[in-house]
Amino acid sequence: TDSAAMPWLASLNAAQREAVEFGGGEGGVAGPLLVIAGAGSGKTSTLAHRVAHLIAGGADPARILLLTFSRRAADEMGRRVQRLLGQLAATHPWLAHAELNWSGTFHGIGARLLREYAGRIGLDVAFTIHDREDSADLLNLVRHEQGFSEKSRRFPLKGTCLAIYSAAVNTRAPLAEVLQASFPWCAEWEDELKRLFRAYVQAKQAQQVLDYDDLLLYWAQMMAEPELAQEVGALFEHVLVDEYQDTNHLQAAILLAMKPDGRGLTVVGDDAQAIYAFRGATVRNILDFPAAFEPPARIVTLEQNYRSTQPILAAANAVIALAAERYAKDLRSDRGSSQRPRLVSVKDDAEQAAYVVEQALARREDGLRLRQQAVLFRASSYSARLEMELTRRNIPFVKFGGLRFLEAAHVKDVLALLRWAENPRDRIAGFRAVQLLAGIGPKTAGRVLDNVCAAPDGCALLAEQPVPDGAREGWLAFAALIDRLAGRDGGPAPWPAGFELACRWYEAQMPRLYEDAPVRLPDIQQLARIAATYPGRRQFLTELTLDPPSATSGEPGMPLVDEDYLILSTMHSAKGQEWSAVSVLNVVDGCIPSDIATRNGAEIEEERRLLYVAMTRARDHLDLILPQRFYVSQQQGLGDRHVYAGRSRFIPNRLLEHFEQITWPLPPPGLRGTPASRQAAVDLAAKMRDMWR
Ligand code: ATP
Ligand code: MG
Repeated sequence: TDSAAMPWLASLNAAQREAVEFGGGEGGVAGPLLVIAGAGSGKTSTLAHRVAHLIAGGADPARILLLTFSRRAADEMGRRVQRLLGQLAATHPWLAHAELNWSGTFHGIGARLLREYAGRIGLDVAFTIHDREDSADLLNLVRHEQGFSEKSRRFPLKGTCLAIYSAAVNTRAPLAEVLQASFPWCAEWEDELKRLFRAYVQAKQAQQVLDYDDLLLYWAQMMAEPELAQEVGALFEHVLVDEYQDTNHLQAAILLAMKPDGRGLTVVGDDAQAIYAFRGATVRNILDFPAAFEPPARIVTLEQNYRSTQPILAAANAVIALAAERYAKDLRSDRGSSQRPRLVSVKDDAEQAAYVVEQALARREDGLRLRQQAVLFRASSYSARLEMELTRRNIPFVKFGGLRFLEAAHVKDVLALLRWAENPRDRIAGFRAVQLLAGIGPKTAGRVLDNVCAAPDGCALLAEQPVPDGAREGWLAFAALIDRLAGRDGGPAPWPAGFELACRWYEAQMPRLYEDAPVRLPDIQQLARIAATYPGRRQFLTELTLDPPSATSGEPGMPLVDEDYLILSTMHSAKGQEWSAVSVLNVVDGCIPSDIATRNGAEIEEERRLLYVAMTRARDHLDLILPQRFYVSQQQGLGDRHVYAGRSRFIPNRLLEHFEQITWPLPPPGLRGTPASRQAAVDLAAKMRDMWR
């Protein structure tokens, strides 16, 4: 193809262009390609250009697999590709309608492939998917059945058990090694944990449920069958992966099995932004990528940052330059600015919230929409005070990461109904669904589920189940509802009409289940609206479990697309994104690095990269906020407490030159003192803070 016919090439720099065009024009599919480069250098945008370029060059969009870190990122990438191809609409109208139908997360794509091919590895394709909370619940059930929790009160809690299990699966390391490395206080339970996990795996198989890790595990298992690996690999001519630094062993193994010689494989990432080691990701994947092939992969590096102003980039570079590992990247920006990022001292959480709100409104006055502004934090709970303040002042916001819409109890209730109808063997779903009825407790629920699971086809006649007399009438209506949802009553198609029935039934139960039912009701209506956009129950459940919509400002449903709202996000969920103005909350020791991540050097280094990720999200304005006092609510049994905080250790004194330091609110004029006395006070405070490092 003629590159003059590819109008987008002109907007790329030389290195980006090399990556986009790599392998083109040689008549075949190119060998493996790695783009490794710093934040904001255009990795994601280069990937989008490459996809458009491949399609314009004749590649079949249906045979392109694009793997991103979130569903949102995949959708955004799809839109970008379409925009690019739209430029050719005049001469190649069909290109403007090219759809990428294989784009999503590893887990989402894994689920889709398993629906198709699970039968070939002895799984039933009618599986349901457990989210993390369901998985923990099932593990807990098994734990009780096995009598571990009775044996010792000190036996690890369900969340810890799940974390250990997940770490072992994702790193493919022996249990002993995982315990030693990350959970040394659980090492004494190695034998018990082994037995527990064996029983957990059996329970999942018996109930036909898969947890998140299984989606990768079984995908990898499929790829271990040479014939199947070839077949699945051949579905895709091109496989492209963004954020490769945050993939784990399983994901790398899957990729290599699909494209053993690396032909058609492109991965991009930044080792300085690896922030998911705590979930089994390994930066080795990206570092070892070139040598995994013979001949080795082509490496392209990008050095120009197009996102941030020079002062913001300089500050972020200075933070990452202090890392224990060297990230040999020379990033520069042409976007000059006289404004350095600010280090803002505030008294406490309440003032922090007030400051953020005031800044956001002031910037909106200056013409910057709220959606161009984001507030980032290390842990989801850190935004609680701010959320209150925003609600009080009637400012709409959207929150990413942390507690999600689907984790709300009432939303889970409705999904449990659907899931149980979909898969009667799913014990966790059934247990939750059955107990929604008045007069039915865990005992009856357990009996019903035993009967249901014992039935040869996994669905004993529901109406005939033994329930207490007082609950009988309600039970019959419930049984009819589930049969309707499952399509077992021979009536018209159960979706989406059946779902509306389920919502109506559930709404009638709500006042008994929740004191604040009226507040929760809009979420159910929102769920119904989302459901109506899916063709069937199974797609709906799969998509929602894997990529739940985010929690919202609490008002009915999510804000409409063209509404303006402030973005709140955990640092982890902010990955890959950018905003004109970014405020980072609680840049103090104990928050970043987090108290719970200060066990070893590797964890502290990951926290440093996390701060780097947060800072490099900003295009024009960056505020790092330091409350002098903050309130920690500890999950680790230490109780809630107030803590006097010091500036994060990632910004030691010698980095201060990169920032403008301000105190907010400014002290009243009379108390300001002379410049010299103010400086003396600042120095003294800094000295006292740093005394204990
Ligand atoms: P991150 O590491 O944070 O994921 P990235 O390397 O993926 O960042 P992008 O998000 O692709 O970077 O790009 C950052 C910004 O730079 C985007 O706004 C993008 O449109 C812009 N950009 C990328 N390349 C160019 C270019 N050649 N000319 C102008 N702007 C560019
Ligand atoms: Mg990116």
